[in-house]
Amino acid sequence: MNSSKINKIHLYNTLTRKKEIFTPCEPGVVGLYSCGPTVYNYPHIGNYRAYIFADILKRTLRYGGYQVKHIMNLTDVDDKTIRESQKEGRTLKEFTEFYTEEFLKDIKSLNILEPDKFTKATDYINEMVEIIEKLLKKGHAYKSRDGSIYFDIHTDAEYGKLSGFSIASLKRNADKRLEIDEYDKENAQDFALWKAWDEKDGNVYWDADFGKGLPRTELALVRGRPGWHIECSAMSMANLGEQIDIHTGGVDNIFPHHENEMAQSEGATGKKFVKYWLHNEWVLVDHKKMAKSEKNFYILKDLLDKNIDPVVYRFWLLMAHYRTRINFVWEALLGAEIALKRLYGLYSELGAEVGKVSKAYQHKFKEFIGDDLDTPRALTVLWDVLKDETVSNADKKATVLDFDKVFGLGFVNSEKNKREEKIPEEISKLVVERDQARQNKDFQKSDELRKQINSLGYEVKDTPLGAEGF
Ligand SMILES: [Zn+2]
Repeated sequence: MNSSKINKIHLYNTLTRKKEIFTPCEPGVVGLYSCGPTVYNYPHIGNYRAYIFADILKRTLRYGGYQVKHIMNLTDVDDKTIRESQKEGRTLKEFTEFYTEEFLKDIKSLNILEPDKFTKATDYINEMVEIIEKLLKKGHAYKSRDGSIYFDIHTDAEYGKLSGFSIASLKRNADKRLEIDEYDKENAQDFALWKAWDEKDGNVYWDADFGKGLPRTELALVRGRPGWHIECSAMSMANLGEQIDIHTGGVDNIFPHHENEMAQSEGATGKKFVKYWLHNEWVLVDHKKMAKSEKNFYILKDLLDKNIDPVVYRFWLLMAHYRTRINFVWEALLGAEIALKRLYGLYSELGAEVGKVSKAYQHKFKEFIGDDLDTPRALTVLWDVLKDETVSNADKKATVLDFDKVFGLGFVNSEKNKREEKIPEEISKLVVERDQARQNKDFQKSDELRKQINSLGYEVKDTPLGAEGF
């Protein structure tokens, strides 16, 4: 019996647009699929919100007593990976493996637990071909004039149910001339399941035999590569079955990616594909979405260059609910760094003994984290227990470690962090200013500065050589 079992976990389902009580298809076991990165360069920190969110979800489900099987894909073949690998004169495999390794290092530094399995799109070509064959047989797909195979969205009466897109007014691609794949975000249209080879693809292609799905009169063999959406359908169904409990991604995946994934999966199997669709909101910069195309993004290396531990970024994200947009500014991150170091500091003062988890605080924690992963409120419980003088240090320690199974802030290793703790630059600046104020006998200013330093979780101690921040 898991002592931390949560009776009810509520999750916001994008499909029904409401919070629902989570019940998996099979009692006690959860199949979780997360759309992973396209491995063609370094993800920006906004991208990492999706993986930190999925990590918190997985940890919460495990904490709540579920056994979770988590699959995350790595898109290692698409327009971008092909184009960029050609630019660098490397094979697609060499190129994507490099960025896969970099991604693994990044998620480790963010305390993201590795999924049970990373699936590479190129390992699932046969499964993709099988789904496309089924769709051709059932009349949901057709071969276009350029040889590519498209999904006919007009054969799906429910198309648009996830994103709220209406296709009633759209014309059918009757003459089958469609040759596009760079999907227009504003318009729903038939999408490529399989793209016929063209010279831009170089030596990246597979010879897929759609013989069983295509009429005898049409050429069954199509040299080409999969469309993006079919990759996730094939990888999720191959590892988690035709019906998945939870599928996660960023809100920008809702349309067209997830809408299309759902249409083609349900078209092929005739079954409901995903029970709960969960999506995290954007990270903004200057109130605009952080995006590669806007060139307004940061990568984890930018944090490391400023000596900021990536876990600080994780902590900063947890201070907001995953379904709210947050605006990234360095000052906010530095504030989070000070607060996290303060938490580590309070924890390190608790001594070596680990007592019992405080039931009262755990009850509150479960209530908040089980309410659609409300990490901001769950964090207040962490602060409260640390400040509660009626709880023994040993019990505090046990409680913090219990909560950290979900937060993943690394309290177990925080002794090390404490030793490495450097006084933040902002604090040092205030200390110097206060010193000057004291020398100038401006005691009012010096007192204000001391209060400001205290409010950031630090104290000043005056020594004969001047002030030191602690
Ligand atoms: Zn996906």
